[in-house]
Amino acid sequence: MSVPPAHEFDAVVVGSGPNGLAAAVTLARAGLSVQVLESEETLGGGARTLDLGLAPGILHDICSAGHPLALASPFFTKFDVRARGVELVAPEASYAQPLDAEPAAIAWRDAERTADGLGADAAAWRATLGALSRDQDLVVELSLGDKRSIPQALVTPRTLAAAPLFGALLGLQGTPAWSLPFRTERARALLTGVGAHAIGRLPSLALSATSALLGTIAHGVGWPIPVGGSQSIMDALVSDLRAHGGQLTTGHRVRTWRDVPPARAVLLDTTAGAAADILANRLPRPLEAALRRFRHGDAAAKVDFVLSGPVPWRDPDVALAGTQHLGGTRHQMAAAEAEVAAGRVPEHPVTLVSDPSLVDPSRIHGGLRPLWTYAHVPAGSTIDPTELVTRQIERFAPGFRDVIVTSRGIPASEMAHHNPSLVGGDISMGRVTMWDMIARPTARWDPYRLADTGWYLCSAATPPGPGVHGMNGWHAARRVLRQEFGIREMPDLSPDPRD
Ligand SMILES: Cc1cc2nc3c(=O)[nH]c(=O)nc-3n(C[C@H](O)[C@H](O)[C@H](O)COP(=O)(O)OP(=O)(O)OC[C@H]3O[C@@H](n4cnc5c(N)ncnc54)[C@H](O)[C@@H]3O)c2cc1C
Repeated sequence: MSVPPAHEFDAVVVGSGPNGLAAAVTLARAGLSVQVLESEETLGGGARTLDLGLAPGILHDICSAGHPLALASPFFTKFDVRARGVELVAPEASYAQPLDAEPAAIAWRDAERTADGLGADAAAWRATLGALSRDQDLVVELSLGDKRSIPQALVTPRTLAAAPLFGALLGLQGTPAWSLPFRTERARALLTGVGAHAIGRLPSLALSATSALLGTIAHGVGWPIPVGGSQSIMDALVSDLRAHGGQLTTGHRVRTWRDVPPARAVLLDTTAGAAADILANRLPRPLEAALRRFRHGDAAAKVDFVLSGPVPWRDPDVALAGTQHLGGTRHQMAAAEAEVAAGRVPEHPVTLVSDPSLVDPSRIHGGLRPLWTYAHVPAGSTIDPTELVTRQIERFAPGFRDVIVTSRGIPASEMAHHNPSLVGGDISMGRVTMWDMIARPTARWDPYRLADTGWYLCSAATPPGPGVHGMNGWHAARRVLRQEFGIREMPDLSPDPRD
């Protein structure tokens, strides 16, 4: 596709990831003319589903696969993907933690059932994740806010009671006292596995915040998998944007501000470093320097498999979960993450696995199915992860090799080939520490506005950080509307007859 003739848009969004599209939809819904420019040939950034040519009819989620945040986030709740025909199916078990020497620990959707399976830790699980899941909205608001305003959910007495529980769980799990309040290896490993969605040394406050958020949603709306793949969520955003006059151009990499048509506001769904490059010498010097200093985190290396049948998990309950966290015990996972942080590829890396056909049989073609996996490795690692991931799955599913038909492994160093924002394989657009979650891309009261230029950052490199929740785009769009267009009321996002 070619770029439309240069003319004035109200707003241009660079990048069509979940945050770029969330921002674009919000601005278009407010009545602005919006142009999206995307460097790749396909739209959707970290939520694309593609035919990789591995087997006829088999589609792969090349980045995100599980979508607890797309159901729970305030942006997507307002946008209401389900009402637009996107089927999000939550499996009966949200996530599973297979172990070598004992039965797997399973986080069922039902918190009670989960607690019942955790023996001596039943009461502790009920009192923490069980209780928090009844206040999912508070946990989500605390986690996905812009970290600059007081969450509205905090002002009710019921949620005021839950906030200290959230803080206590976060404080305990994020510090050397992380053995409390759980006594069994199974409960500890289960909670650590979910925290390890954020890549980094354990224990840490940021990883425990991830456990608290994703662990709470697991017993709330669950961890749904979209029928047809993640792309269906992005397609719903694109269709709403088009219905409200938005234009999208693919194959257009923005390298400098000159590559962007004149507009009153420009929102960058890019890394902090890319923003500095695009606006070189046009930002106040300290801000440009801070963006260039922005630190990326360690990496994921992806392997997409095509299988002739389901993964033969040793413990059959593991197969009922939408996502498997492979890493063994809490201490084994901590050791593997420490290796990654030290720049070494672990022998048994923390590995995430998901078989979408568990809830979506339409993903199976000719008896073949896709399997989504990735392993944590050091930033920029050049190692092909296929054998590492295969071994890690075999450890908990003997016979896995026999169902592999074909696969494609991508080293961390090559992850950016299909999305320039995955620098060195960093899937979180920056280091995941508590400070980095609050102060990304740099410590400023307004982390989205790039000084007084009319340019904004709206990607996961801003609060609240990574995930397919659209909240970075929504927070940035709110500021653009207010600061550039004097619009104080946020637009209605619910489906309308044009969609
Ligand atoms: C392997 C992997 C697995 C993941 N799994 C999950 C998961 O299961 N669940 C979940 O919630 N999250 C998951 N994530 C994280 C999630 O995908 C990201 O946090 C999310 O996509 C960030 O959205 P974004 O819009 O900020 O950026 P992105 O999704 O990265 O989108 C940025 C877009 O901007 C484009 N772009 C960048 N620079 C330019 C430029 N200069 N010019 C033009 N276009 C540009 C890119 O091509 C891309 O399309 C995963 C990520 C990866 C990589």
